[in-house]
Amino acid sequence: MRYISTRGHSDRKRFCEILLEGLAPDGGLYLPEHYPQVEEARLTAWRSLSYADLAFEILSLYIDDIPAADLRAICRKTYTEEVFGTKEIVPLRPLESPSTGSGQTVLYLEALSNGPTLAFKDMAMQLLGNLFEYELTRRGEEINILGATSGDTGSAAEYAMRGKKGVRVFMTSPNGRMSPFQQAQMFSLQDTNIHNLAVEGVFDDCQDIVKAVSNDLEFKRQYKIGTVNSINWARLMAQVVYYFSGYFQATRSNAEKVSFTVPSGNFGNVCAGHVARSMGLPIDKLVVATNENDVLDEFFRTGVYRVRGSADTFETSSPSMDISKASNFERFVFDLLGRDGNKIKALFHDQLASQGSFDLSHDPAFKSAAQRYGFVSGKSSHADRLAMIKDTYERFGTMIDTHTADGVKVAREHLQPGVPMIVLETALPIKFAETIEEALGKTPERPARFEGIEALPKRVKIVPADVTVIKRYIAENVH
Ligand SMILES: *Cc1c(COP(=O)(O)O)cnc(C)c1O
Repeated sequence: MRYISTRGHSDRKRFCEILLEGLAPDGGLYLPEHYPQVEEARLTAWRSLSYADLAFEILSLYIDDIPAADLRAICRKTYTEEVFGTKEIVPLRPLESPSTGSGQTVLYLEALSNGPTLAFKDMAMQLLGNLFEYELTRRGEEINILGATSGDTGSAAEYAMRGKKGVRVFMTSPNGRMSPFQQAQMFSLQDTNIHNLAVEGVFDDCQDIVKAVSNDLEFKRQYKIGTVNSINWARLMAQVVYYFSGYFQATRSNAEKVSFTVPSGNFGNVCAGHVARSMGLPIDKLVVATNENDVLDEFFRTGVYRVRGSADTFETSSPSMDISKASNFERFVFDLLGRDGNKIKALFHDQLASQGSFDLSHDPAFKSAAQRYGFVSGKSSHADRLAMIKDTYERFGTMIDTHTADGVKVAREHLQPGVPMIVLETALPIKFAETIEEALGKTPERPARFEGIEALPKRVKIVPADVTVIKRYIAENVH
């Protein structure tokens, strides 16, 4: 398997070459040159596999530069009951059966949030940690991961990279702006390869610092700066696995179809669904659910992709979906427009930079997108979120988090008879306790291992929003 850039660069790279890289040299995103097709017999054989072995089978189709025995060992080390809480790793929970008594479940939750940080980003990040360690050891190299986080991504990265050989993490976050629970999750890590930098500023300041460091090519090379952001192909590939697992759990035969609803921000999660569907998994609809930041819903309704400025980006109660542009969206548009790198360059490099938007409403490819790729969409508001949390708790005794609530709201608008709908549960309610209390008047349960974490000693350095200070800190801490 070789990997190509969405913007048409002539490079053809292998998996381990792109694993530690960010964007392609032309600013595009890497994608496999084709999607391997999984035929009927193979689907049937995969039904009975453990999650780790299913992951191995799927990853093997995309990775041919890690020996099979090593790759299998990496998958088995990653997806364990000990780390993810259940033997199924991503168990389905029925939420609703029709009153007709036909017995068929119409709505499921797929639990992706029982990993170390209680959000779905662990599903991919835990694998990435083990792949990084493997490849860096093989090369005898090191990497210093620099990131900016307002919550889920940073903690998932830290829990994936803690104690890993050859990897250090420098994670900036806006000082005092994450929830006490999220701060405690990150700052209580005592591993010497994890560095928490609480920046006196807002999230944008953190992102600007990361950008400034990454643009200093000399510094970047000298200190081997890398990232683990959501455009990394390995993260997306890891997420393909749970679409297969969810499908197998909800069906008995490959003649059945299911739909998925995905609470979406940067389009990484649902893009993995698109890849799974393109590989031949019998998915009917992929439902993109957004919050008030509805860049993606607008596109799927109208064909217009219009990125927002920071002033037009709302702070919502499903904050991990608060995006101004969807960084993985270019991958889908590449497929939508027949994998034409020149067209993608014209849209994403030229037109977005000059006009901040592009319009595909008259393009026949967009008009047939829902048919060909199964995409539909919807949006949810704070009031919808509260109503869904309350309704789901009162009728089914199940507490859901704010992001999952956006998913349930939009899923209900797209139910179709005879097609089970699987909503991806992207976080546990304890991470967003304030809104749960607003909806239910009670505090969500917290898993026993997080009891009292707010009181643990914290390992964090408060720093000014100043690039030179951050660079100096990195330089002093890499040897
Ligand atoms: C990151 C995240 C999302 C959005 O996922 P994308 O891959 O960016 O679309 C949704 N919910 C939660 C809880 C998240 O952490």
